[in-house]
Amino acid sequence: MDEAKLISVLSGEGINLPEDFFPKLKVYAELLSEWNEKMNLTAITDPETVYEKHFLDCLLLLKNRDLNNKEICDLGSGAGFPGMLLALAVPSAKITLVDATKKKFLFLEEVQKTLQIPNVEFHIGRAEEMKEFRDHFDILTCRGFAALRIFLEVAAPITKRKGLIIAMKGAKAEEELLEAEKAIKKLRLDYVGADRFVLPECQQTRVELTFRKTGPTDRKYPRPWKDILERPL
Ligand code: SAH
Repeated sequence: MDEAKLISVLSGEGINLPEDFFPKLKVYAELLSEWNEKMNLTAITDPETVYEKHFLDCLLLLKNRDLNNKEICDLGSGAGFPGMLLALAVPSAKITLVDATKKKFLFLEEVQKTLQIPNVEFHIGRAEEMKEFRDHFDILTCRGFAALRIFLEVAAPITKRKGLIIAMKGAKAEEELLEAEKAIKKLRLDYVGADRFVLPECQQTRVELTFRKTGPTDRKYPRPWKDILERPL
């Protein structure tokens, strides 16, 4: 997918972006391919695929959602997907990118500096150890971070009451949703719904699952990572 096609798909979906957005996106793609030669950032490297599978996929989060002035946290952000793109797309939002791998932030810092993205903050550390952020964020996002019920256990405690949790998934989203049924109850979440999209060129299905936090999360969550993995809710 080239830039022109991305612009036309996004405008067809009613997604409006700042004026300087697409030139900055181009630089982002260049930095990604440059840095990928030095460190393993993403398996997707050719620019056409980056535009579709990274950029379009992440920007679809903006469809029918108003993220203006929201405080957003992206867990396991990796090379900045979707968090860094949301920061670039919604200058009034404040985005915290979380990742346990320190070296990824060398790349993210370079992107932030080069593209001048003031509304992004970095948190190097484990998602399940963010005690200081309890009940803090309006919106939690993740893509490729963990199975749904695992993501929900670490996301719910740091989400504000009535805040949203959005998991970006593939075609098997519904299976994960069934598996997460108990977790959703225990964590006092409401399932809001699924937004499906087929990426136009590769024809892969993408599903965004959205949840709302309805009440305080029990203090026993999140458990240590080992327990979360060995005995998922
Ligand atoms: N969201 C990106 C990266 C997905 S890879 C994308 O869609 O391209 C998953 C990322 O989650 C990795 O960068 C890994 O370092 C991070 N990660 C995995 N478990 C984590 C944890 N418990 N806390 C914080 N980061 C974690």
